[in-house]
Amino acid sequence: MTPIGVTGPLRSMERVDWADRRGARAALVTAIVLAVAVAVVIVVRTPWSVLPVPPGGRAPVDPTAGLTAAQLHRAQSFADAARPPSLISLGLSLAVAVLFGLTRLGARLVRSVARPLGGGWVWQVLLGVVALVVIGRLVTLPPAAYGEVVAHRYGLSTSSWALWLRDAAVSTGIDSAFTALPLLVLVWLARRVPRTWWAWAAAGAALLVIVGSFLWPVLVEPAFNRFAPLPAGPLRTELLTLAARNGTPVKDVLVADASRRTTALNAYVSGFGSTRRIVVYDTVLASLPDRQIVSIAAHELGHVSADDVLTGTLIGALGTAAGVALLGWLLTAGGLLRRAGADGPADPRVVPLLLFLVAAGTLLVTPVQNLVSRHIEARADIHALDLTRDPDAFVAMQRRLAVSGLAEPDPPAFLHWFFGDHPTTAERVAFAADWSRLARK
Ligand SMILES: [Zn+2]
Repeated sequence: MTPIGVTGPLRSMERVDWADRRGARAALVTAIVLAVAVAVVIVVRTPWSVLPVPPGGRAPVDPTAGLTAAQLHRAQSFADAARPPSLISLGLSLAVAVLFGLTRLGARLVRSVARPLGGGWVWQVLLGVVALVVIGRLVTLPPAAYGEVVAHRYGLSTSSWALWLRDAAVSTGIDSAFTALPLLVLVWLARRVPRTWWAWAAAGAALLVIVGSFLWPVLVEPAFNRFAPLPAGPLRTELLTLAARNGTPVKDVLVADASRRTTALNAYVSGFGSTRRIVVYDTVLASLPDRQIVSIAAHELGHVSADDVLTGTLIGALGTAAGVALLGWLLTAGGLLRRAGADGPADPRVVPLLLFLVAAGTLLVTPVQNLVSRHIEARADIHALDLTRDPDAFVAMQRRLAVSGLAEPDPPAFLHWFFGDHPTTAERVAFAADWSRLARK
């Protein structure tokens, strides 16, 4: 209803406002639908229970995981030394995101960094992102450097300071590029199609997650490590036979030159389809007996068998799309924009607010992601036991992993719930005990 006497321009503004509100509601509904889809995929694809209860109940979880008192003490004192800098680092990066995203400081920064280049919106987005990423990195550099000192002191890091700084610079560059380009597209869309930008951006972001999952191992991993095929020999033959027995196509087992940086032991599987590969750290080859390396590879093959990378990619793609649709709703709410000193998603001054919202969203979904991850990892553990039928090597390997990485076998519950992406060593050793009792049955 238009009151009598309202002039033309006002009426049309009112209409725009209604269209905006309809658009905002569509964005919210889309976000909710996608979030429900993510929840369904998580509920259906997460292996909530990976091992039946053995007769007589589950093995009690021994919080020491069978480590010696000296090993436990060393892991504990490392955690005490390393945890504060890493939590401080997280807190500082959030504080930076809040400071620039929820005040007008960020908008001013975006304006001023682009001024020498003419101040166009493209430069505001690109240089604004680079400036914010670099500031975030510089602020967290002191606690990160202290964490590196601790890692050196405990013999966990072998990286030279030159290599450490080079890594920090390279990852800042990669973060800047991977943040600036998507945000440039987002602001461009908001300028081109002001009502439906979020829908295009959500679809594009989902696509980017899927493509990224293919390209990450090819494009990003080589920026940090060199990979060489595991040389021919009994171990290579055994691992390829294991993969064949597992019924999964693995063309190659690669060795990463991780010892340039760390003494930690690790292996992983990344990519899928033609880019899928199993990667084993050279530290693993240097320090573990073959039986334990086979156990690690069998765990990784468990991920391949269960298509865990595909599940992760699907959840990531849907979740990212839901997040972008939610941005579409949040960025029509005047309150946040006013706070950030931006006119709307088409205004490059929105960049600091976007980075804050992404940081906050990422932190909020971390416990959910890790909950799913822990179950998926537990399934891969059981798969390794099924495939190798060698619980002794599995347990010995878990202990070696914990000792070499100075991981507490039974970390504080809250921290594990929030940050733990694998079951604890204590739990993993208990899996093997349960598995053995079920196998004997
Ligand atoms: Zn795993």
